[in-house]
Amino acid sequence: VADALLAALEAAVGAAHVLADDDRRAGFETDWTGRFHGDARAVVRPADAGQVAAVLAACRAHGVAVVPQGGNTGLVGGGVPRGGEVILSLTHLRDLGAVDRAAGVVAAGAGVTLAELQRHVRALGLDPGVDLAARDGATLGGMVATDAGGTHALRYGTVRARIAGLQAVLADGSVVEPRVLKDNAGYDLAALLVGSEGTLGIITAVRWRLVARLPARVTALVSLDSLDAAAALMTTVRPRLPSLEAADFFLDDGLALVLDHQRRSDPGFARAPVYVLLECADRSDPTEELASALREAGIEDAVVATGSADRERLWALREGHADAIAAVGVPHKLDVGVPLDRLAAFVAEVDAIAGDARVVAFGHLGDGNVHVNVLGGDDAIDEAVLRLAAAHGGTISAEHGIGVAKARWLSLVRSPAELRAMRAIKAALDPDGILNPGAVLVT
Ligand SMILES: Cc1cc2nc3c(=O)[nH]c(=O)nc-3n(C[C@H](O)[C@H](O)[C@H](O)COP(=O)(O)OP(=O)(O)OC[C@H]3O[C@@H](n4cnc5c(N)ncnc54)[C@H](O)[C@@H]3O)c2cc1C
Repeated sequence: VADALLAALEAAVGAAHVLADDDRRAGFETDWTGRFHGDARAVVRPADAGQVAAVLAACRAHGVAVVPQGGNTGLVGGGVPRGGEVILSLTHLRDLGAVDRAAGVVAAGAGVTLAELQRHVRALGLDPGVDLAARDGATLGGMVATDAGGTHALRYGTVRARIAGLQAVLADGSVVEPRVLKDNAGYDLAALLVGSEGTLGIITAVRWRLVARLPARVTALVSLDSLDAAAALMTTVRPRLPSLEAADFFLDDGLALVLDHQRRSDPGFARAPVYVLLECADRSDPTEELASALREAGIEDAVVATGSADRERLWALREGHADAIAAVGVPHKLDVGVPLDRLAAFVAEVDAIAGDARVVAFGHLGDGNVHVNVLGGDDAIDEAVLRLAAAHGGTISAEHGIGVAKARWLSLVRSPAELRAMRAIKAALDPDGILNPGAVLVT
């Protein structure tokens, strides 16, 4: 059977794009964190939607499931096999069209990375309106599939807000395409695929809604005594800063880890328990607006950077967290969201339940989005942290998705009626259960 499947896959995409040997599959079978791994039958790399449809037909005929994969930067194990599936790698779908300036959109293949899209459109004074530290690897298809957030979600929303249409291949091999830009005829299938994590269809191309790239930027690093003070800072500055583009936080133990990893000893500012990075962007210099909002909040001594190199040095401290943590061990990554006024209590309680395990927390302050990283904990810590987030009125996934890591706990934040509706949608669009089984919904 396996050989017949491989022959059908080779007929679909060409033998050069079917990777069946152990060593050629290996890089696709383990996730970015090293925590999730599964053996695949093969990795297939289609070049267009027609080939994707042919791969799905071959897999359906052989009763084998597919795991779609983009840049494999996902953090919830949804893009790597559980065992025995075919990995459908979408990185060869690389068309990048001309920007439609009148409409403010650009068409791009699912395999284009965020950094490539940023370069493509920034040259024209435009911006994708999304940014995240995995920009060099994360693909547009993966970002749509996870409804990624990132640092600019505060201003522009998550990826969902950037989608003006999708081309996708459904489980039965049919291809859905976007038509005109403004189009509300019937159910919005593209909206359904956003955040579906490869379980409802394969995204092959996106029509991405762009924003103006605001050229004048300022970043401030504010040192604070507590997360309650950080929440209060947000409450004061947010209404005063229409130019606010990002508001992230990290803690002093996380900073220590990053400095160690980056072989730096002195961050260039006094150490404190909590740090908040605020970035404003506008057509004209927003520095005075930011300074005045900080004064209103009683902050006199922020580190302020306007040049891009200085700003990047500050952001490297926040964006360096994932790499610094990965250098120490394989973390349990729990991306959760809580109401801002619960943030301090939540993080303190996570520390308490983690016991001897090391907790590193950082995230997107403006969205109440905490990335809880636990080093040295066992599987029980996942459930404990997710239950705690739910108990604080929060969510078990703010931006990374459910994947396989959290599928067991979806009922903590989704009602029986919502879960029934999700299962009905899944059964209707993927009746044979070949699209990423085990991700999002427990099979
Ligand atoms: C250092 C670092 C920083 C990060 N920062 C952020 C952040 O700030 N915000 C944030 O939201 N995420 C962040 N992430 C997580 C990750 O980058 C995002 O989840 C991203 O959207 C994944 O894109 P990808 O192409 O790597 O997808 P993959 O990891 O390959 O896949 C992710 C999921 O999408 C599915 N999928 C992938 N491509 C397709 C497709 N074409 N069609 C259908 N399904 C598909 C997969 O099956 C899987 O379930 C970060 C990750 C790292 C390593």
